[in-house]
Amino acid sequence: MAPECSVCTAHVPHAQLVAWESARWILRHHPHPAPLCGWFLLCSRRHLASVADLNAEEEREFAQVLGACMRALRTAAEVPRVYVLMFGEGAPHLHAHIIPRDPACEGTRAWAVADWYRAVERGERAPADVSAVDRMIAVVRGRVTDELVGWRGA
Ligand SMILES: [Zn+2]
Repeated sequence: MAPECSVCTAHVPHAQLVAWESARWILRHHPHPAPLCGWFLLCSRRHLASVADLNAEEEREFAQVLGACMRALRTAAEVPRVYVLMFGEGAPHLHAHIIPRDPACEGTRAWAVADWYRAVERGERAPADVSAVDRMIAVVRGRVTDELVGWRGA
């Protein structure tokens, strides 16, 4: 763990936001204030900058876990589509933003979701409701666990 890394330091105080974890991976909800209910992050435990730095085994696992998380969120949030964003600018630590795309919310369509994120960050738009987030984490936890039954990864 690198103490100057916001991804490393987020895992400990935000344990209640974790929906699933293994020896290598952590799926946790975005900390409060969260831009959207269901905005999750899939992070590696190992400190590395991006998917380009995974070893072959980790890369296979990442695809498997990411797919499972996306399917779990798609059904939990009852949305037809789930976005994945990876920049690696906020922290030099692999973290994929996994975001439900609600067709009823035009303000989160494609690149507009970045404007939405910044509006919540600046306090111009209300963040996700804390109790709704807790319920979402519980549902996603159950679905990811079901998805990964029998998973042989680390
Ligand atoms: Zn880190």
